[in-house]
Amino acid sequence: MRTFSQKARKEGKRIGLVPTMGALHAGHLSLMDYTRSECDLLVASIFVNPLQFDREDDLAGYPRTFEKDLELCTAHGVDVVFAPRPENMYPDGFQTSVSVGDMTKGLCGAGRTGHFQGVTTVVMKLFNTVLSDIAVFGEKDFQQLKVIQRMVRDLDMLVEVVGRPTVRENDGLALSSRNKHLSPEERKKALCLSRALDRACSLAAEGVVDSPTLIAKASEEIQKTNGAKMEYLEIVDSDSLKPLDKITKPARMCLAVWLGETRLIDNASLN
Ligand code: AMP
Repeated sequence: MRTFSQKARKEGKRIGLVPTMGALHAGHLSLMDYTRSECDLLVASIFVNPLQFDREDDLAGYPRTFEKDLELCTAHGVDVVFAPRPENMYPDGFQTSVSVGDMTKGLCGAGRTGHFQGVTTVVMKLFNTVLSDIAVFGEKDFQQLKVIQRMVRDLDMLVEVVGRPTVRENDGLALSSRNKHLSPEERKKALCLSRALDRACSLAAEGVVDSPTLIAKASEEIQKTNGAKMEYLEIVDSDSLKPLDKITKPARMCLAVWLGETRLIDNASLN
């Protein structure tokens, strides 16, 4: 992979990377289409990274559709699919990790020990291997995007990290590989996440700036959905990810909700 990229860079080509864990859907494909339009060479990585899973069953049950993924990559102009094996990414003796500080402690970091350290470690390895000029991530995983941007800034890495908007089903549900795990009943209930965000966004647009009020109104949408269990629902500063009492600067509402065994996340800008 690196030999290929070094040669391409010498030829002056601009390389774009879209890191994924496979089970590709329209959200991933939108990142690829964007990157295709911005770069000469499009690299997509497909790697289900064991380091970022905090539950064995989640890793074992993660959807894997490699052949179909390759077809979709071809159809969306991917030049190279980089799909390493876990034993090549983490050979015997592997013992180094990258960890970002406070930004990884709240939101998803609070409930998923080691998750972000797993993410930043694998992303650092992907960046060092693919040597892309840009790397494109979805706002769907807003904390992940911000943590990776922080890592790149803090460690003086050369890649530019670009965030792109969340792709949704027509009814508002954010696309996610984990949606496959939802029963038809849970799929209907999953709309409580986007409803909660819509409610907060409408109130914010009407001029409500008080976070506790917005959080209370949004939480009602989860609480009135039978079987939905809220893990967190918070309003944070869009850059630092610190909790905000009032929306006086760019703010994001982020939430994680369980439907049965499936954990879903979503977020929206309140400005
Ligand atoms: P994953 O395969 O879940 O690790 O996701 C790979 C990339 O796709 C990450 O940058 C995600 O944020 C992004 N992504 C996942 N779902 C969506 C979506 N619905 N819209 C846009 N990007 C997404």
